[in-house]
Amino acid sequence: MSKLRCGVTNCINNQQNMCTRPLIKIDGDCAEKSCDTFCHSFNHKLCNMQNSISGTPRAEEKTDIKCAAHQCTHNSDQRCTAENVEITGNGACRCTETECRTFTK
Ligand code: SF4
Ligand code: SF4
Repeated sequence: MSKLRCGVTNCINNQQNMCTRPLIKIDGDCAEKSCDTFCHSFNHKLCNMQNSISGTPRAEEKTDIKCAAHQCTHNSDQRCTAENVEITGNGACRCTETECRTFTK
């Protein structure tokens, strides 16, 4: 599990820069740099108002991360091993406009 900071405040899963999901999926199979990665679990708030009103779980500091960016040094068997992970892309309209800033090659 990684301590996750996420700046995508318009994602329905974002709660005070943490993520309410116990598991997120980062994509970027051919990623060479951060901007080639994205959070597949992103879900735009405006498109899902109904869900945001009904009981959302509390965000935990640590999140399990499944990750397809196998070229990242923190990737071990499709799992993220980084202690701290930062996701950016505030204002994103789609998941591909987010990225994992912690990607390291
Ligand atoms: S963009 Fe990803 S990490 Fe950030 S809150 Fe949404 S699902 Fe969680
Ligand atoms: S730090 Fe690397 S392994 Fe961890 S989520 Fe980001 S791209 Fe994937």
